[in-house]
Amino acid sequence: MYVVVYVNKSYNNLTTCIQRDPIFWVRAHKLHHKYSDTDKDPYTPTEGVWCSYLGWFLYNEYIGTKCGEDPNVSELKAQWFYRFLQDTYFWHPTAFAILLYLYGGFPYLAWVMGVRVTALYLFTFIPFYVIHKWGTRPWNTPDTSTNSWWVALLCLGDGWHNNHHAFPRSPRHGLEWWQLDLTWELIKFLEVVGLAADIKVPTEADKLRRKTSLPVPAKQTDK
Ligand SMILES: [Zn+2]
Ligand SMILES: [Zn+2]
Repeated sequence: MYVVVYVNKSYNNLTTCIQRDPIFWVRAHKLHHKYSDTDKDPYTPTEGVWCSYLGWFLYNEYIGTKCGEDPNVSELKAQWFYRFLQDTYFWHPTAFAILLYLYGGFPYLAWVMGVRVTALYLFTFIPFYVIHKWGTRPWNTPDTSTNSWWVALLCLGDGWHNNHHAFPRSPRHGLEWWQLDLTWELIKFLEVVGLAADIKVPTEADKLRRKTSLPVPAKQTDK
């Protein structure tokens, strides 16, 4: 399910928004969960706003320098498709930009690759700082993750981040009926049309188990 959803939901977005390849994102994401709020967390807010917001993404060597060669994306690297996307990534947005220019000239290029990409960068990276800093914590996870309704609205469901840390395998982040999660609505649609399968969301028993376990208080670090 994960791979199918990733390809269909995100790759188009990564290409047209110049936000790098799936292996890069999956690696950073796994490192974030494995080393949450520690020195090896790629976008921990404990290193300041800039580093957590865009700095970690814009500095190419950052994750490698910080985390070393953690081989935690072997399942993707084993597939030629993802290696191809990574090796040829530069040409994907480049080809898209050329097509835009040929189709609509400079105005298309400026609005679609300039203004739109800048706006999406600004929104995409908001959660990396905010949702380990401000918000509510309905789940007692051993990290500083929070839920933020306004980030969820801006970022299509990404704001229910404490839910996500509590149930990292669930593609549904807005677990309550009132927690709007547009990405989850898209995944449900992909399931209906056969492009996503084997989707698992937490049951009431899972939630109860989670509520009564992990008595580790979150440490909020202000810096
Ligand atoms: Zn995650
Ligand atoms: Zn997190």
